[in-house]
Amino acid sequence: MQENLVRLFIALGVFLLMVSWEAISPRRQTVTRKQRWPINLGLAFFNMAMMRLTIGGLAFFSAIDAGEKSWGLLNQLDLPFWLNAFLTWLALDFAIYLQHIITHKWPLLWRLHQVHHSDLEFDATTAVRFHPLEILLSMFYKVAWVYALGAEPAAVIAFEIILNGAATFNHSNVNIPIKLDRILRWLIITPDMHRIHHSTIRQEIDSNYGFSISLWDRLCRTYTADPAGPQETMDIGLPRMRAPQQVRFLRLLQLPFINNGRG
Ligand SMILES: [Zn+2]
Repeated sequence: MQENLVRLFIALGVFLLMVSWEAISPRRQTVTRKQRWPINLGLAFFNMAMMRLTIGGLAFFSAIDAGEKSWGLLNQLDLPFWLNAFLTWLALDFAIYLQHIITHKWPLLWRLHQVHHSDLEFDATTAVRFHPLEILLSMFYKVAWVYALGAEPAAVIAFEIILNGAATFNHSNVNIPIKLDRILRWLIITPDMHRIHHSTIRQEIDSNYGFSISLWDRLCRTYTADPAGPQETMDIGLPRMRAPQQVRFLRLLQLPFINNGRG
């Protein structure tokens, strides 16, 4: 219960920080909020309530369960706590990178993930724009990794907090000097790097899959350094959904069942 509150406060704190930064120093002037924010924040509240009422916290409890039963790789090794925690975080971060690629390549999962990409702009609220079914499936996927790994429970919580904060940061419409952006990119995913993943151009969407660290994209050769067009004006979203009336709240919930988002 207390851990839930801590997570919520950190998530809100990072969100407010990024939204303030966006207001003071935006990267793109084209970002409108009136039509997008109710949809993105509506999905966030819907997903948060759904997880509270169903399987929220399942990854953490699975890690405790795996520890009690001595299941999973790390529970077989006698490693110090800090190393267990670091390896848990690293493996889960790779797992989420891999999951992101799978949601792009497997047509059935792309039907769900296209909801995230249907945003016609890109700011901190895009980070919480996910179809509820993708959130649920993602939790079951994470639980499978937690058991296989024998994940350290505290590190599972830390992983979720870091992932949430990193996603809010790398989706935000903030202006970071190019030179600093290039330095930061050696370690983390910057907004300029992740914006390329939200481009309407297929080769660009199919790159920069990471959420926290840039290592996986560089290692697995899915890294794109620059978009074809300028960052300030490049098109964001899905090529076939360019009209705002196509991306209303209820329609987004139905979207996976009515089209496959390709083309
Ligand atoms: Zn994606």
